[in-house]
Amino acid sequence: MSGRGRSWRRGSSLPDDCLFCKLYREGDHVNATEGFVAIRDINPRAPVHLLVIPQRHVETFKDISAFSSHEAKAMLDFIAETAAHEGLSSYRVAVNCGPDAGQTVYHLHWHILGA
Ligand code: AMP
Ligand code: ZN
Repeated sequence: MSGRGRSWRRGSSLPDDCLFCKLYREGDHVNATEGFVAIRDINPRAPVHLLVIPQRHVETFKDISAFSSHEAKAMLDFIAETAAHEGLSSYRVAVNCGPDAGQTVYHLHWHILGA
């Protein structure tokens, strides 16, 4: 728990005011499973642009080790399952990690971009 608390305090987003914690709780989900949801990106950069958001608040991909092996596998499975659910056969999965890579929301999320 202390590790998670440290992580929360490192950046600008605290879970109480984190946009993606809020969208996890009450967003318009296109797909959901225990611990993960998918939403449509508000500013799509492809004909289909989804975001997969874990319930667990970690700020960046650098904190991926905060997830157990089981959770990490479940997250990857959910990404693939969400793309299939959306009818995508070809798509790109991306994570922007850090400001110079274009990360704007400091709650880990995965972009699914498809035609
Ligand atoms: P990133 O730049 O990798 O941090 O991705 C953040 C993404 O969140 C961007 O593609 C934004 O368009 C998207 N976004 C921001 N606010 C919302 C929102 N309220 N609902 C859906 N997507 C959002
Ligand atoms: Zn959050």
